[in-house]
Amino acid sequence: MPAFDIAIIGGGVIGTSIAFELAADKLRVAVLDRQPPGQEASWAAAGMLSPAPDSLRDIPLVPLACESLKLYPEFAAAIEEASGRSMGYEREGTLELFFGPRGEDDRQRRVSECQELGITAEAVSIETARGWEGAIGQSAQAAVWLPEEARVEPRLLMDAVIVAAHHRGVAFRKNCQVTELLTDHGRCHGVVATDGTISAGQVILAAGCFSSQIGDNQDSLRQYAPTRPVRGQMMALRPDSHRFQRVLRSKRGYLVPRRHGQIVAGSTSEEAGFDKRVTAQGIRQILDNAFELVPSLGSAEIVETWSGLRPGTPDDLPILGPAHVEGLLIATGHYRNGILLAAATAKLMREWVTRGRTSFQADPFSPLRFHQEPRRSATRSIAKN
Ligand SMILES: Cc1cc2nc3c(=O)[nH]c(=O)nc-3n(C[C@H](O)[C@H](O)[C@H](O)COP(=O)(O)OP(=O)(O)OC[C@H]3O[C@@H](n4cnc5c(N)ncnc54)[C@H](O)[C@@H]3O)c2cc1C
Repeated sequence: MPAFDIAIIGGGVIGTSIAFELAADKLRVAVLDRQPPGQEASWAAAGMLSPAPDSLRDIPLVPLACESLKLYPEFAAAIEEASGRSMGYEREGTLELFFGPRGEDDRQRRVSECQELGITAEAVSIETARGWEGAIGQSAQAAVWLPEEARVEPRLLMDAVIVAAHHRGVAFRKNCQVTELLTDHGRCHGVVATDGTISAGQVILAAGCFSSQIGDNQDSLRQYAPTRPVRGQMMALRPDSHRFQRVLRSKRGYLVPRRHGQIVAGSTSEEAGFDKRVTAQGIRQILDNAFELVPSLGSAEIVETWSGLRPGTPDDLPILGPAHVEGLLIATGHYRNGILLAAATAKLMREWVTRGRTSFQADPFSPLRFHQEPRRSATRSIAKN
């Protein structure tokens, strides 16, 4: 008899949201994290809930991102009710701003692109945008209004979802680093961790950018989850004037208002390995972009700087679903969108675990897309007596 029905490797927003969802089915769920949960990318994020694509490579993600945005009010309400804590969910919309002589053309292309993808986007004059948010700088030429976009405060979200999952009976094992899977005859039935083996009916890999590191070199979970860290640096500012309500975004950066008067400015996108240093160049880039959007931020107090490691993948798409090894599911590689995608990911994982199929077409995100042939996995087989 397994100690747990489900063992989840990783206590970021993805692992804990899945745990919260599965615990509703009275399953015995454990979240295993090599440190206290919620301290990695999920802690570092800006918290925008934006399904609008950043590049052509994001387009296959849009349906899932829109679905997750739709699920968010219910997802947030369930977590807030179970935890008694707010996650700072606000649906105030986003203004995207365009600069330079081609600003109006770029704006038109953006509106058409969003509308073709089913995302509500309206062209608004820059005067209208400044009427809503007086802080917008004079060099902005054109604006797009994305009224359905929302935001959360990721650190509040992490506190809330951990407490909510705990209240539903999820067991959290912190400082528990998983080193490999336990398998027997091609079936996964637990994990090997620094504090011993943990048996479980099914295992879900949700270790963010670290997912590819689990297992030994020859036989790692990289075959299903070839994740890599993509560093994002961030900064929190406290403006002395010109507060604003909506997210302001350009091609180069964004400003996200927080409830208590601070503004989060981001971000960089760097291939820097697992190095989480905040650099002079990174801060300069963030400030240049912030001042372009809102020049009056020059007098703001710098409250905090930090960085986080996004779980990138070879095609920038998340990795979701069953692996070739029975009893092993993958939920990682959420790259720039893990806060947004937490709601849909939790729902999909619950469906896979409890029904063996999903109500949403998730084939583009299958972990099997990275290799065709079944292979032995990152595992230690139990020797038969
Ligand atoms: C600067 C920045 C801004 C962002 N802004 C946004 C945004 O505005 N909107 C949005 O939707 N997304 C945003 N993201 C992306 C989002 O933060 C990530 O996609 C999401 O947090 C990934 O969550 P996760 O749970 O997969 O990973 P993580 O939060 O990294 O959690 C992984 C967990 O696994 C644990 N772990 C690792 N290895 C092991 C092991 N061997 N054994 C046990 N535990 C292990 C870690 O300790 C960690 O707790 C941003 C990211 C960054 C860095």
